[in-house]
Amino acid sequence: MDHFLELEKTYGAQVYHPLPIVLSRGKGVWLWDIHGKKYLDMLSAYSAVSHGYAHPKLLKVLKMQAGKLAVPSRAFYNDQMGPFLKQLCELSQMDMAIPMNTGAEAVETAIKSARLWGYLAKKIPENQAEIIVAEGNFHGRTTTIVSFSSEEDYKRHFGPPTPGFKIIPFADAQALERAITPYTCAFLVEPMQGEAGIRIPPKGWLKEVEAICKKHNVLLLLDEVQTGLGRTGKLFGFQHESVDPDGIILGKALGGGLLPVSAFVAKKKILSLFKPGMHGSTFGGNPLACAVAREALRLLEEEDLVARSEKLGNYLLKKLRKLESPLIKEIRGKGLWIGIEVHPERASARKICEELMRRGILAKETHHTVIRLAPPLVIKRKEIDWVFEQLREILEKS
Ligand SMILES: *Cc1c(COP(=O)(O)O)cnc(C)c1O
Repeated sequence: MDHFLELEKTYGAQVYHPLPIVLSRGKGVWLWDIHGKKYLDMLSAYSAVSHGYAHPKLLKVLKMQAGKLAVPSRAFYNDQMGPFLKQLCELSQMDMAIPMNTGAEAVETAIKSARLWGYLAKKIPENQAEIIVAEGNFHGRTTTIVSFSSEEDYKRHFGPPTPGFKIIPFADAQALERAITPYTCAFLVEPMQGEAGIRIPPKGWLKEVEAICKKHNVLLLLDEVQTGLGRTGKLFGFQHESVDPDGIILGKALGGGLLPVSAFVAKKKILSLFKPGMHGSTFGGNPLACAVAREALRLLEEEDLVARSEKLGNYLLKKLRKLESPLIKEIRGKGLWIGIEVHPERASARKICEELMRRGILAKETHHTVIRLAPPLVIKRKEIDWVFEQLREILEKS
């Protein structure tokens, strides 16, 4: 094992702080390390593996499409992209979509789209458009996106920051209204914050946000890269509030845990403004990615993953809330997306994750104090019971 750790330490920049375990195989909710030890995955590649590892139907499509046509070029049409975009638009009740690869690229696409709309439709003077974002946001790692992060580690030494963004407190509708100027083109926000430690806004906030955006002719763009596609117990995170956003950003689970597939899906008034040459991506919309994503979306329905997430998430949340442990500060969650916040002076989330690892469960702390639980949505009730038992022993015995 040390061999692989050494190789990564020698040849890779140390931008992560991984648990000392070397994985080599996965199936369903289970992962195996190089010694053959088995672990239940409660992280799912930060919610990218909703369908579980090595799903046979996804693998079948992957192999079939890889052998047929994988990556031609957007210089030509292909027989997978159109059907994929249609499926995405119907599912999200949007009009048009731009396919990309990573979440950050889809966020960048949303930013470009918002500015384009700002200049062409809202008539904001060129180079003056502003986008409002929320404190604690996580939208990816590009230079522009980290410019409006509130996390010092993400942006320090990577400046100069891209101008044109304003940060307001999360879940504060009044702050949004105060921050809007005639030059504001969009409010870009996660309906619930993931990397910030599973922060669930109070009921009614998003609805209020929607009304404020409509009133001031500001686009409401929701980053559903992590919350989308069933993670929170609804198909989209914003459906907990039944709002009608102008655009949504999808990624992570869209690739079925096999490929990076993302998209910005939006209203026609925004995406119809693009003309050839304005945007692009070598790999975005390639037939291999589109075929896998189509199957991933189809399986969400066939396997009832959204309802499973809601039912099993509520089940686990209820059990966790009954725990009596002095270490627990708060338990938050929606669907199979739960954060256990511990008191920093009494417990270390990292240490708890290390103890979970010894017991055969993989989870990762976020912000030192929150243990995030986000298993593949195919997890079974008895597996959840087992995870809960381990957590109970760790949290109650300490
Ligand atoms: C992970 C994430 C992203 C970035 O996705 P990448 O594929 O890592 O670029 C953007 N927004 C949210 C909400 C995310 O959780």
